[in-house]
Amino acid sequence: MGEQHAKDPHTPDLGLRFGDITTEAVDAIVNAANSSLLGGDGVDGAIHQAAGPELVEYCRGLGWCPTGEAKITPGFNLAATWVIHTVGPVWRGGTSNEAELLASCYRESLARADEVDAEHIAFPAISTGIFGYPIHAAAHVAVTTVRSTPTRVRAVRFVAFDQETWDVYADILGGTRRH
Ligand code: ADP
Repeated sequence: MGEQHAKDPHTPDLGLRFGDITTEAVDAIVNAANSSLLGGDGVDGAIHQAAGPELVEYCRGLGWCPTGEAKITPGFNLAATWVIHTVGPVWRGGTSNEAELLASCYRESLARADEVDAEHIAFPAISTGIFGYPIHAAAHVAVTTVRSTPTRVRAVRFVAFDQETWDVYADILGGTRRH
């Protein structure tokens, strides 16, 4: 909109995709990691499997990652150039700062993307699997945080791995172009 310089912070275009984030050919995919950064179940396991064993070797050198923070690695065998590993909160009923920690995951991931000039990035529904965060509340945090965070990322894709997640994001994103 208007004459915006490419390097000025702005709000990214938001999109929605169905399927496996490991096949997304974007500059960076975000991993819903655990604090060890050494791999796990769910999307974390899928990303490590697709990236190959070099990823865990690299992660070993990074140490652990606190909840709400994010660290970046190469994508190795992935189509994506980078993987941004962020640690979502475990859902404990909603009174343990979960929403702020989850929002921090999205903000910190965008900050890591900016540091490497990644323009197209893809997020899974952080914390909504094994960590138990209710999907409606988590998707609301995801969308509102990305919409309100100044970044040089141009396009964000939310990747839904199941129908319920898709439906919730589609509802929140409303008229947003889905791609
Ligand atoms: P967490 O521990 O943060 O809850 P999970 O990996 O268990 O992380 O789940 C987070 C979300 O990622 C869930 O919606 C889950 O269905 C989804 N997911 C699992 N595998 C993939 C994948 N290969 N691509 C995209 N999303 C995935």
